[in-house]
Amino acid sequence: MSIMAGSRPMGAKADSIVFMILSAGISLGMLPFSLLRVLQEDWPIAILNVSAMLSTFALFLLVLVTRKTHHARTGLAVVTFGVLLGTVYLKGASNVLWVYPALTTAFYLLTPLIAACASLVCLVLVVLFIYSTVDFVFLMTFVVSAGATFLFLYSFSSRMREQAFFLTDLATTDPLTGVGNRRQLEERLVESVRRMLRAPEQTSSLIIFDIDHFKRINDQFGHGVGDQVLKMFADFMTKRIRKSDSFYRLGGEEFVLLLENTGLFEAASLARDITKEVSMADWGEIDIAITVSAGVAHFEAAESSYDWLDRADKALYRAKENGRNQCVVCNNEPAAFA
Ligand code: GH3
Ligand code: MG
Ligand code: MG
Repeated sequence: MSIMAGSRPMGAKADSIVFMILSAGISLGMLPFSLLRVLQEDWPIAILNVSAMLSTFALFLLVLVTRKTHHARTGLAVVTFGVLLGTVYLKGASNVLWVYPALTTAFYLLTPLIAACASLVCLVLVVLFIYSTVDFVFLMTFVVSAGATFLFLYSFSSRMREQAFFLTDLATTDPLTGVGNRRQLEERLVESVRRMLRAPEQTSSLIIFDIDHFKRINDQFGHGVGDQVLKMFADFMTKRIRKSDSFYRLGGEEFVLLLENTGLFEAASLARDITKEVSMADWGEIDIAITVSAGVAHFEAAESSYDWLDRADKALYRAKENGRNQCVVCNNEPAAFA
């Protein structure tokens, strides 16, 4: 029986690092402008620049402490557009060049649709602020170049978003059965453990299922039929479980059912029902009797996701030793369920 080697939810970490670099860069980049405006005693723009610089730095600190970027992204986009509009309003058309980095920042921070709506509003306001102070050729040059930048950013970020969804799906789904793969399981277990450490009154359980004598199925009926059995078991489980439960293929013929907010007794009872139902199921065109063994464990305070899964795996091992087609519960005083 295989057990995961460790967990590494990298996406969120990389995201917060990029955000911190961006916010620190913007904050530092605004420092000379803020100082200059203070030295020039140009108070309206000085106040705008200093407050934008401090807000950006506060967002940097927020992400540094929480490692979460969701609200900080919206905050930084608001600051970016706010400082752009304030600068163009106060200092005039010579500052419209800031539109280009502001649009780029918005499309990086926000979803394509929200960034597009915010950018359009911002562009209209910039045009309203400057149109009476510039000549027609300048205005058209600005409108066409900003419009082209906008269209490019919108299509690029939409495409990136589609690809990100596609790659996430590819990286987290088992291609044979369509259920979550081991990587997704690792991430969900780490999240679940974190949640339970924050709220210890909520306990979750997990069940490892292993199809019995699966090698014999492959040997007797061929690898193709073996694959079909895996798919049918995964389909059966996907239909059988509740919305709050999640089901993963750990590898080979081993699967994991994660039951959020479910105690050991309830999980053991479900595991026992499922092993019975599988042994009595009619698999349609495949006329093979299939049985599964199951190991059940609920989360115990202060253990890692690795230890949690390992205890369920040990219970599964005992279910196999006890003769298969049954579930065994792992707790401090192990008890077998017929
Ligand atoms: P036990 O009851 O002790 O679990 O015995 P078992 O035969 O199920 O377990 P064993 O670990 O001996 O064999 C598992 C087999 O599963 C061996 C491997 O070739 C097969 N297998 C692993 N992945 C796949 C797959 O994706 N498709 C198919 N068809 N077979 C697979
Ligand atoms: Mg196995
Ligand atoms: Mg097996």
